[in-house]
Amino acid sequence: MRTTYGVQDMTIHRIVEQEQGFTPMLEFLPTLSKEVLEENLSWLAPGGYARDTGNVVLCFQSYVVKTPHHNILVDACIGNNKTFPHRPTWNNKTDGNWMAALKAAGLGVEDIDFVMCTHLHGDHVGWNTKLENGRWVPTFPKAKYLFSKKEYEYWASGPNPQVPMDAIRESVLPIIEANKAELVTSDHALNDHIRLIPTPGHTPDHFAVCAGKGHDQAVFTGDLIHSPIQARYPELIMRIDTDQAQGVRTRRAFFEKYCDTDTLCCTMHFPSPSVGYVKRWGDGFKLDYLS
Ligand SMILES: [Zn+2]
Repeated sequence: MRTTYGVQDMTIHRIVEQEQGFTPMLEFLPTLSKEVLEENLSWLAPGGYARDTGNVVLCFQSYVVKTPHHNILVDACIGNNKTFPHRPTWNNKTDGNWMAALKAAGLGVEDIDFVMCTHLHGDHVGWNTKLENGRWVPTFPKAKYLFSKKEYEYWASGPNPQVPMDAIRESVLPIIEANKAELVTSDHALNDHIRLIPTPGHTPDHFAVCAGKGHDQAVFTGDLIHSPIQARYPELIMRIDTDQAQGVRTRRAFFEKYCDTDTLCCTMHFPSPSVGYVKRWGDGFKLDYLS
């Protein structure tokens, strides 16, 4: 499985934590019909769909972008010892997958300079923190963590601010309390190489991350899309999109922008190899994977 890509003066590493069946495809994408799913199984099923269970197959991963100046972690995946009462394969797990993948990329936790969370769902913030003597502490001792201010305020303030959701309590608030967070706008530019672009819909202030000097050589989607079938049909919503119509607009605009360009599109949840170039397919799009 290829996990390293060189673009311009940067190296991109995939840091894979899990890749497996998740939940029933037709529940995950509630506006997908059984008929349309069946029409697409010949190309979708290898990698992206489990015929025996009817489950969508997703990869759960982070990316590290090595620029000439910094090592940037894009999304912090699931993490260990975290509370996910409804996800048995994530709940309180203790495996070494993610750390082994980081090591295989030639990196240790002290090498990460910036962590960027495209949004604050549990499978994108997990490794922000680790459990040490019963306390959540930043996993990456030298890193600044970039969160969208608007996204942070949305999750930190509701539905009951006195009882923050598990992912916020375990993986976000300890970063704020350790003064390691920088709350930014979703169009923030870190430097010449790294920029954010607003891609709202899945969550209120979701952003994508663009890498490349003077030009988007690579872009990291976060969860503006989950399954390749949503590229072919950008109107397919994911069940927990906070604004479904906005999510559809964002998805279509994003794929239109990068279609037939030399920008490497690095998805979070597409099956391995997850990375490729955006091409047109009928009224929608597909990813030509780099294998
Ligand atoms: Zn996700």
